Amino acid sequence: MTYKGKSKVIQPGDTTDTLRMTFTDNVTAFNGEKSAAPSGKGAVCAAISHLIYRYLAVHGIETHLVSEIDSTTALVKKAKIVPIEIIVRNLAAGGFSKKYGVAEGTQLAHPTVEFSVKSDELGDPMINKSQITAIGLATESELDAMIAQSEKINLLLTELFAKARIKLADFKLEFGNSDGKIILCDEISPDSCRLWDMDTEQKLDKDVFRRDLGDVIEVYSEVLRRLENVI
Ligand code: 5GP
Repeated sequence: MTYKGKSKVIQPGDTTDTLRMTFTDNVTAFNGEKSAAPSGKGAVCAAISHLIYRYLAVHGIETHLVSEIDSTTALVKKAKIVPIEIIVRNLAAGGFSKKYGVAEGTQLAHPTVEFSVKSDELGDPMINKSQITAIGLATESELDAMIAQSEKINLLLTELFAKARIKLADFKLEFGNSDGKIILCDEISPDSCRLWDMDTEQKLDKDVFRRDLGDVIEVYSEVLRRLENVI
């Protein structure tokens, strides 16, 4: 069976416990209202995400990545996806700035961790821990594991991006349950993070597409080039 998401395609893997995950060129924003397919977007996001997942694995984070098949496809561990998006923020931006009236770029006193329901139909509404467990989207221990891993990932990635002269403002993670263990799934790329040049504040992420600020492929490739130089 093939599952087509907004920017990725999931197909059966070589074994019953694996899947093939392909990054497509599709890029969407505002819950699918705006979309495009710049040539090469899938390959550059795949390269960035795989590089980050290999880095996280070396630093003790268990991820779904098994191996890279080609420039856009990876073999990943099958996991039962927890239908929750975890968003970690270091600097105010996007939905947070709008909702709480905090100027974009404001340094938060400490990182925040928030959850939203993974549902295009509902518009990914924000949800809290007691609501999640009350409606059975995840258990308390799954949530605790997700929070602990998200905080560790934030420390590792903030340090990695800083070496590349990039500020990690915020990012979104998804986890899955694999044999009773919570593992990092989905992707981490400029499609799911806010990345700002440390010296110029230039946006190097999907906001370039959301706000028509320039060439998505050019800025995503710049992120890849810088990460390759520091890993
Ligand atoms: P915000 O809540 O400010 O819109 O998003 C916070 C961060 O999470 C941003 O880096 C944004 O790109 C990412 N994010 C939030 N929701 C989604 C989503 O549904 N898909 C992807 N790829 N990223 C998301």
